[in-house]
Amino acid sequence: MSKHVVVIGAGLGSLSAAIRLAAAGWEVDLFERLPGPGGKANSESIDGYRFDTGPSLLTMPWVFDALFEAAGRKREDYLEFIPLEIICKYFWDDGMVLRTWANRKKLFDEIRRTTGEREDRLQAYFDRCRKIYDIAGDLFLEHNPKEPSTIFSRQFFRSLLRVGGIDAFRTMAQAHEESFLSPRVRQLFNRYATYNGSSPYRTPATLSIIPHVEYDGGGYAVAGGIYAIPLALDRLARELGVTMHYNTPVEHILSEPAGKSDRFRVRGIVAGGQELLCDAVIAGADVRPVYRDLLSDETARDIVRYSKLEPSSSGLVFYWGMKRGFPELELHNIFFSRNYPDEFAAIFDRKTCPEDPTIYVNITSKVTAADAPKGCENWFVLINAPCDEGQDWQAETARIRARIIKRISTLFRIDLESAIATESVMTPRDIQEKTASHGGALYGISSNSRTAAFSRHPNRSKRYRGLYFCGGSTHPGGGMPLVVLSGKITADLIARYEQ
Ligand SMILES: Cc1cc2nc3c(=O)[nH]c(=O)nc-3n(C[C@H](O)[C@H](O)[C@H](O)COP(=O)(O)OP(=O)(O)OC[C@H]3O[C@@H](n4cnc5c(N)ncnc54)[C@H](O)[C@@H]3O)c2cc1C
Repeated sequence: MSKHVVVIGAGLGSLSAAIRLAAAGWEVDLFERLPGPGGKANSESIDGYRFDTGPSLLTMPWVFDALFEAAGRKREDYLEFIPLEIICKYFWDDGMVLRTWANRKKLFDEIRRTTGEREDRLQAYFDRCRKIYDIAGDLFLEHNPKEPSTIFSRQFFRSLLRVGGIDAFRTMAQAHEESFLSPRVRQLFNRYATYNGSSPYRTPATLSIIPHVEYDGGGYAVAGGIYAIPLALDRLARELGVTMHYNTPVEHILSEPAGKSDRFRVRGIVAGGQELLCDAVIAGADVRPVYRDLLSDETARDIVRYSKLEPSSSGLVFYWGMKRGFPELELHNIFFSRNYPDEFAAIFDRKTCPEDPTIYVNITSKVTAADAPKGCENWFVLINAPCDEGQDWQAETARIRARIIKRISTLFRIDLESAIATESVMTPRDIQEKTASHGGALYGISSNSRTAAFSRHPNRSKRYRGLYFCGGSTHPGGGMPLVVLSGKITADLIARYEQ
């Protein structure tokens, strides 16, 4: 008889774990409190405009390809990834514009032409980013560094010998200060710290693996929008026999004492008032509500330690249906702030929205025309924001909305307000309520310390045998490809410990 696992949540991490285990012969029941899959990667439609609610840029497509392969399928039969020629268009207030091209020569030419930065410095930077990825990438992204199977592996030992090469003792901003002469280029590459909700002035330069992944691996759009990904994974999971229970929150994880006084064995879950017994449980939800609400245990060492860590940044998002098109914009656009250090001091120290935020505008109707009425555009406008700690979000929303409209109107010499046909807003508190993510953190904990890579919640509980974790608050962290990898790490651990 096949073994039975319950998966909590239908975020991308949970879907990845469910698919891998179903493909390996497990009986899988997946429970999600929302009506459909995706979690933070969801979709919203307003007055004929469709928006991806969360993630917008896809990198590391091979992670998704490998997930389909593990299920004996081809990703191309389910999802179309479209490589971007221009990954992002950057705007500064003085009128400077820089496009980041996927093609290396075009990228270097554009950076040199607009900023004067030297090509040999850019090349040396990319070489260093690749080296860091070669040393640390696979080890941290495909395995949990706290598991004995990782620690005693030959690969871990080899990486230890080269650990000096991962640039962990400078911050990302310090590394960019030394790498580049142009302040604009430093700002451009400092932005990559926000890809996992961190500050470039505190996160270690090791995180330079992020630009490596984007420029060497490419940036991609998805036909039908990012939401096509959870829809495809939901379809694949069903084909493999996973039973999906939407609109069904898990209320409790059942356990019984096992051996030592502080050790338990997971027995199953309670959902809709019904007990369902199983051999293992995977929690793909944020770990803090899992301990507080589902285990009623906030004294476990893993969660006590985790709760002391700094959460990643959150976001304040405006979904604007625009009455017209903006040919001067690309799929991904950034309007940089004038004072980048102060932006991160606001988010992580003062816990307020920046006075002069960097503005990100994503327009999926540039790729998927059906996402907006003809001749119109769907603008997803995001600024990085602190997590919810009781701030007055109504006041913050009004202040930031006015700032964004003024900045873009001034730059393009237009009346942006009059182009907005319809709108909706998502604050950090809304993100918390919608996705059950503590404080509305987008990526679990921040990487604002040298030890963050070792501090994420483990994928396997030692206190609760049979309980496993995946998703953004666990190793290896947040972001679409990483949570899909967390699902793989978790499925691998279950194969090792539960057979
Ligand atoms: C505004 C925004 C912008 C982002 N931009 C990017 C980007 O450009 N690129 C990128 O890679 N990433 C981005 N991210 C981050 C990315 O979306 C997340 O890291 C990733 O989607 C999280 O996946 P997850 O597996 O952790 O699950 P989540 O998406 O957090 O989903 C967890 C699910 O568990 C469910 N759940 C919780 N408790 C229970 C319960 N008791 N019972 C049943 N179900 C439960 C929740 O309802 C939720 O659906 C962004 C996120 C947001 C919000």
